[in-house]
Amino acid sequence: MTVVRYERRGPVAVVTMNRPEYRNAQNSAMTYALDEAFYRAVADDEVKVIVLAGEGGHFSAGHDIGTPGRDAHVTFERRASLWWDHVGKEGAESRFARESEVYLGMCRRWREIPKPTIAMVQGACIAGGLMLAWVCDLIVASDDAFFADPVVRMGIPGVEYFAHPWVMPPRIAKEFLYTGDRMPARRAYEVGMVNRVVARDELETETFALAERIAAMPRLGLALTKKAVNQAEDLQGMHAGMDSVFGLHHLAHAHNAETSADSLAGMDPKSMKAAADGS
Ligand code: ZN
Repeated sequence: MTVVRYERRGPVAVVTMNRPEYRNAQNSAMTYALDEAFYRAVADDEVKVIVLAGEGGHFSAGHDIGTPGRDAHVTFERRASLWWDHVGKEGAESRFARESEVYLGMCRRWREIPKPTIAMVQGACIAGGLMLAWVCDLIVASDDAFFADPVVRMGIPGVEYFAHPWVMPPRIAKEFLYTGDRMPARRAYEVGMVNRVVARDELETETFALAERIAAMPRLGLALTKKAVNQAEDLQGMHAGMDSVFGLHHLAHAHNAETSADSLAGMDPKSMKAAADGS
């Protein structure tokens, strides 16, 4: 089964994460398949807008930290960074090389896709799932969608693509991270993190209607506008801020590796869920 589906609907390319049995947990195979699909959409002159979707009941449960398809120790042809292959390296060297490529590197690469991107989010959008939604220009969420970054439970200050204080007000970002609680779609709309909240059965119609409206704009105008807003975010410190937080993120991974079972503090999907339910 292909982990990412690609289709064209008129001027809109639809890129769909397709591991519904694991709530679209993102392994490296999916990361590189997403990259391939985005590249294809950019290269296709007929495509004006890209929609990123998740098959099944949930957009994405985050990075794959526990399915049978976990492939954290597999070599892939690198695309986002010039770091050497993480496979066969030890400790922080392996983690830093890997996450510079598949997490921070890939997310930054996708944020710069020169065509408008829309995340169509239903159900869970957790941790690594946030990164995928946040790199998109717009987010349309169904009323059953929720957002959470519970990785502070692992002693880690949030996911690798640390956009939190730029996609929501800093005080809200602290609450979001300190509690790990689910932020419902309505609240995400209130704080400006998502563009629209629609009924679950209208999610697709509304997202594609928006995509079609955007598709009527000139291609270069859209590309330059996207760059303009992204540059403004970076002038507000987003790029440099993420670099500095990435260092803290890896300090936390190293601390965990030094003092507990592994760099994730011995947590897996099951213990993460248990910790969340117990709170
Ligand atoms: Zn990490």
